[in-house]
Amino acid sequence: MRTSFQGSCHCGAIGFDYHTNISPAEWSVRACQCSFCRAHDALSTSDPNGQLEFTSRNTEVLQRYRFGLKTADFMLCGRCGVYIGAVIETAGGAFGIVNVHALRATPGNTAKLAPASYDNENVAGRVSRREARWTPVEAVPW
Ligand SMILES: [Zn+2]
Repeated sequence: MRTSFQGSCHCGAIGFDYHTNISPAEWSVRACQCSFCRAHDALSTSDPNGQLEFTSRNTEVLQRYRFGLKTADFMLCGRCGVYIGAVIETAGGAFGIVNVHALRATPGNTAKLAPASYDNENVAGRVSRREARWTPVEAVPW
């Protein structure tokens, strides 16, 4: 049964609708250790068999930020500053992650917390990992 989980930035200008068959207790939640994710205390989740839509009520406040290998857009609200998730666009389509901390309701136990470091990846490795693990994105707000 596919459940929908909504999330947004603090002021509500940008958000997402994350659809997954996986119950929250079984989600893969990663605490990426890069300096961006540590600064935001971001927790990432995704489901390769799910579906993700990013929404924007106000595209003018959407900030896309690329850093490191510059393969994905990290999306922040330009008004309230909250980081909601990231999208990579590849030859195979668009794939995304969401920030669990941006979910409207905390989905219960997301205890399988794994610190993750991807520092040693090259561009090809990073793109193929994201294509395999991230959620197919149906809509991007630009
Ligand atoms: Zn906002």
